[in-house]
This record gives sequence, C-alpha cells and structure tokens, in this order.
Amino acid sequence: MFSIKGIPAAPGIVIGKAYKIGREEFTVPRLEIKQEEIPLQIQLFEEALIQTRKEIIDLQKRIAADMGQEPAQIFDAHLLVLEDRMLIEEVISRLKKDRLNVAYIFSEVLKHYIEVFSKIEDEYLKERIVDINDVGKRILRNLLGKKRIGLEEISERVVVVAHDLSPSDTAAMHKKNVCGFVTDIGGKTSHTAIMAKSLEIPAVVGAESATQKIKAGDMVIVDGNTGLIILEPDEETLKLYQSESEKLRGITRKFLEQKDLPAVTKDGKAIEISANIELPEDVPAISVHGGQGIGLYRTEFFYMNRKGLPTEEEHYQAYKYVAEEMNPHSVIVRTIDLGGDKFLSQLEMPQEMSPFLGWRAIRFCLARPEIFKTQLRAILRASVHGKLKIMYPMVSGIEELQQANAILKDCKEELKREGKPFDDKIEVGAMIEVPSAAITADLLTAEADFFSIGTNDLIQYSLAVDRTNEKVAYLYDPAHPAVLRMIKSIIDAAHNAGIWVGMCGEMAGDPAFAMILLGLGLDEFSMPPQVIPQIKYIIRSVTIKEAKVFAQQALKLSTGKQVEEFSQAKLKQVLA
Ligand code: PEP
Ligand code: MG
Repeated sequence: MFSIKGIPAAPGIVIGKAYKIGREEFTVPRLEIKQEEIPLQIQLFEEALIQTRKEIIDLQKRIAADMGQEPAQIFDAHLLVLEDRMLIEEVISRLKKDRLNVAYIFSEVLKHYIEVFSKIEDEYLKERIVDINDVGKRILRNLLGKKRIGLEEISERVVVVAHDLSPSDTAAMHKKNVCGFVTDIGGKTSHTAIMAKSLEIPAVVGAESATQKIKAGDMVIVDGNTGLIILEPDEETLKLYQSESEKLRGITRKFLEQKDLPAVTKDGKAIEISANIELPEDVPAISVHGGQGIGLYRTEFFYMNRKGLPTEEEHYQAYKYVAEEMNPHSVIVRTIDLGGDKFLSQLEMPQEMSPFLGWRAIRFCLARPEIFKTQLRAILRASVHGKLKIMYPMVSGIEELQQANAILKDCKEELKREGKPFDDKIEVGAMIEVPSAAITADLLTAEADFFSIGTNDLIQYSLAVDRTNEKVAYLYDPAHPAVLRMIKSIIDAAHNAGIWVGMCGEMAGDPAFAMILLGLGLDEFSMPPQVIPQIKYIIRSVTIKEAKVFAQQALKLSTGKQVEEFSQAKLKQVLA
C-alpha cells in the first residue's frame, strides 16, 4: 500500500479499479498531394469541421439536459474555435502553397497556434489553449477517421487515470461507469475540475506521477476532499474508506434534501447565505442549491473573451438581468478586480515583478477613472431593477475608499443631470483583503456600509504566500492563528461601528470553519453555490452560544494544525 498526493478537484471518496487512458498522440502522415487533389482535401477539411461541430452540439445538448446550462456553456468556446476564420484560412492557404495532405497541414497549424498562445502573458488566452487543443484533437480525429479509444469502451465501474483529461473527455464520462478520476496535471479551477464537480464525480488532479505509479487494474482509493490517492490499500484502510464513503454519500443527500430550510441557528439567529458568481449564467445554480442572494459577483470575467472593453449599456444589461433574477435578494457587484493573476490584453497592463502587489483592482480603477465610471454608472442604473450593492476590491486604506466614493458621487450627479433613475441609497462596501485594511478596519467603517472579507487574498498577503504557487501551498493556511485574529478584529470593528460584515473568500464555504466564523459573529457567508446546502445545515445544527465558546477556544490555539484538528473534530460531532 502507498499513497500519492494531488490537488483535490471534486469532493467525495471512491474506491475502484484503475482504468488507464493513454496520452492521445496522433501519428499524422505527411503526404504530398497533386494540384488537382486540393479541392478534395478542402472538402475533407470542411466535412471534418461540420462533423466536429455536430459532435460538440450533441455533447452540449446532452450535458445541458443532464446537468444544466452552466456546464454546457463551456463548449461555446469550442464552437468559437471552429468558426475561427484565421485558423481556417491559414489551413487552406498553406494547403494550396505546400501541397501536403490536410491532416498534416492542420496538425502543423494547430501546433503553431498553441505555441503562440503559450507565450502570451494573458491568463484568459492561456486558458484558451485547453479549448484549442481539445477541439483541434477532435478535428484531427475526424480528419484521420479515428475515435478516441478509451472512455466509450468502459463497461465496469472504474477510476479513470490519465495524464490529462479535456473538458469534453470529462463530459463523456457521464453515464459511463466512471466513479472517479485522477490526472497527472491540472489545477483546482480548470474547466475539467469544474466539470467533475458538476458531474459530482470525485476527482484529484495535479497528482504528478499518477500515470507512472498506477497500473491498469490496481485497486485505488480516490479522496477528492483531501487529494489523497491510495494504491492497493490493505484490508483495514479499505474498510475505513468504504465506511467513510458511504457516510459521505448519505450526508450529501441529507444536505440537499434540506437545502431550502432557512439558515437559522438553533437559538434563532438568522445568517445570510449567498453565492459567489463569475457570470450571469451562473445565476440558476444558486436556487438549485438553496442560496438566496449573491455576495460576490466577480465582474472582471465580463471583460474577458472579447476584443474591446464592454460598453456602459452591456454592463447595464448584465447587471439588470442579475438584479431582476435575484430580486428581492441582494446582489453585491464587485467592481473590476484586474491584475494579480487576471490580465486583459486590450488594457495593455504592464508586466510586473510582483503582480499581486502591483497595479490591480481599486488601484487600477482609480488610475483609469473612465473605465471605472463606465462600470459604476451601469451598476447605478441597474440598481432600480432589484437590490444591488457595490463593493470595491483590494482597498488598502481609507484614502482609496474616499477617492472611489468621490467618483461614485460624480457618477450619481451625472445620472441625476441626465434624468436617469438609480437607487440613491445603494449600499457601498469594501472588501477587506489587505492586512493594512484589516488592521485599520475601524477607520474604514466611516466610508463603508458593509465589509466583505476576502480571505483568498487576505491569507496570501498576511502569510506572505503567493496563492498561485504550488511550491508554497503548504503554508497557505486559513486556520493560521494570525488569520483568525485578523478576522476577529475586522468583525469587531465593523460591529462596533454598527455595520454588517460578510466573507466571500473560499474560507466562508469551508465546512471546517463555519462554526468558528459563526462564533466570531460573521453576518453573511458567500460561497460557490455547490457548498451552500452543507454550510446551511451546519448553521442550523448549532446555537450561537455554542459557536461563540468554540471560537474563543479556537482563538487560544497556537498553530493552524491545532485549529484545523479542533475544527474537524467539532464538525464531526455536529454532523454526527
Ligand atoms: C478573495 O480574495 O478572497 C476574493 C473573494 O476575491 P478573489 O478570489 O476574486 O481575489
Ligand atoms: Mg481578492
């Protein structure tokens, strides 16, 4: 028995036989063709494009029917690749010039595209490589008349082990007998991981040496909660995980059955549970999981996947839609948080040595007020269609908050002059995600109606751990006493000034910390929709009094490990 550690991508535990899928490498023949064969090669290419389009649309329909619109939309990007005129024209012009078979020309053009995209320092374009690769392979398969060997032929319940899986491979697993999967590469937020979560298939990605160490037919345990893969487990370990897995399944069912019960503690304190979204398309998933409002709408994704900047009208239509859909529940629109690990080619943001400490979020908005104002005006205009709130990211001190509010005031005056209606009393909040803001939270209350703690950044800045660097990931610890103390002081400062405080970092959706945060007095928890049922359940299972005592005890511990163990033990008790 031995184990491999990877990155947990989709929760749950599975035990099964490994089914290995080899890397899909095509051997594409290089054949010279005659001038008169060119039309036939072009026809072959067109047919392959049509066939690929049909396959993707079929897959998209199936996923939409089985899993809903959100995961199906991943394939919109694939369809766009098929319509890429530049790619198609390059293949045809090289075909005419080089007089080689179209499959070979296409594979060369594809390679070149991927090379060029890999060199561009733009997160969005980098992500597109996955899509281009995925669609490119489909087209090649169709040009060569091949099928991907593997997923279609699985006839018993297995754990798929692969170097990498594309989103469409993952989707193809649906209704097949795949009970879990492991990949050598990939990150927590890749489309493949998102898809695995939607399919509710436990998965571990980034398990570097998995395909070397696991043999076909090996018995493996995949723990999608911890990222641990255990090979050839002994009898005792097997039994332990079998019972754990059974328990987990039962618990998830129980949470979902009760998702619509209110998030009220046993002694009657109501807690706001809201969702984090990236795109308006994410809205339907909220009610499916029993969520009520939106605590973080990450609007920067709106600036991606497009050539120019969005206009005020485009912003307005998006916010109006979300406001109306969520009404009467509130929607906190976070103003653009670009920079850090999110860049836009059209904004010509400079490359920086330390982008997370650089020109990002509110700093960028204050320096480019015309871009900031377009968004603020749109939020204000959309505020008459529901209950919108505004939130600024990366605030480091009161001056930034004052400057942002002054620009907001200008926007309000402009709209008044133009006779355009808006909610003049719209709440304005600050994200607390920089240690200087956390320490001066009492001062910031003068300029904010609420706070939302962004633990994803707050932890990286407080502990000096780059949140995207897997080498120091072991130091990234939400349970660190410094983090807990900081959260406590932010909540106390907000309450002393009579304003409410939420949390929209991933920590708010981590069941292990729900009790501590509740006990520290957090008013609102905002998280990815899928975890809402469990957090609501935990809140309903305790009293505020009990949570307060628990939080006080946790604050006395001196290491993150102790806090984590203490919290896990309490969670087990609560969920028992
Ligand atoms: C955070 O930093 O906790 C947060 C919610 O914002 P983001 O993850 O978008 O930086
Ligand atoms: Mg942040």
